Amino acid sequence: MLGGTAEARALSAVLIKAGFSVVTSLAGVTQQPLPVTGEVRSGGFGGEHGLIAYVRRERIAAIVDATHPFAAVMARHAALAAEQTRIVYLRLERPAWAAQSGDRWIDAGSAAAAAGLLPDGSRVFLTIGRKEIAPFMERPGLSGMVRMIEPPSQSVPAQWRLLLARPPFDLETEKQSLRECGITHVVSKNSGGESGKSKLVAARELNIPVVMIARPVKPAAFTAWPVDAAAATLARLLSP
Ligand code: NAP
Repeated sequence: MLGGTAEARALSAVLIKAGFSVVTSLAGVTQQPLPVTGEVRSGGFGGEHGLIAYVRRERIAAIVDATHPFAAVMARHAALAAEQTRIVYLRLERPAWAAQSGDRWIDAGSAAAAAGLLPDGSRVFLTIGRKEIAPFMERPGLSGMVRMIEPPSQSVPAQWRLLLARPPFDLETEKQSLRECGITHVVSKNSGGESGKSKLVAARELNIPVVMIARPVKPAAFTAWPVDAAAATLARLLSP
């Protein structure tokens, strides 16, 4: 189980209850990850060749990719490793968010493109994690609030307020933060799921535009959603 998400934790628990032997793999970037049922390993495999070696050594029968929709490198390595070792590869894929009436979304193809779309003077609520904030921090004309779970590896310029917090966030708190910080634009990855959705509802209700970063393309795979369907699909794919 390639994890690091709430649904990976849920699927591990369901599979273990159904009698599967599951190892959840975490990238090891979060200092205090939430508890996972069953065996856990942590840290990268050392690229696709490392993952292939791991699959062979541990006699893995299936890779379930339940990583975040933006974890594109891991998905590519996992698909390749499964193909090379001829094992099952299943992706647990959370549906993307779709704009609703009243939303003012501006589509962006990447974090860098999103940074380029913001007008000078924008007060930004940046909620894209810690890895890709550089294009925003490098623009002196942007300011606002940047929220992530773990501290960033780079320094955050003084015109930005850094907020370390873990989802979920409730709607009223999100609206209050947007108002208090004088936010003019929200920037979000199209992660999907319930826990990050309230900022989008808050932006809609306050008539604030959202720069929405599209998901990366991933290799073709068997995909399933939600967790129970994924467990059933895995059982089917592994049945003789
Ligand atoms: P990524 O860019 O696709 O992967 C970068 C490298 O991190 C991979 O090549 C792999 O290293 C290692 N890695 C990633 N996921 C791993 C896992 N589950 N187990 C072991 N190694 C892993 O991934 P990312 O976007 O940095 O995401 C890292 C983790 O954070 C994932 O578990 C993901 O579910 C979680 N996460 C990501 C986001 C996001 O926005 N990207 C949001 C929430 C949670 P090697 O090449 O050495 O094997």
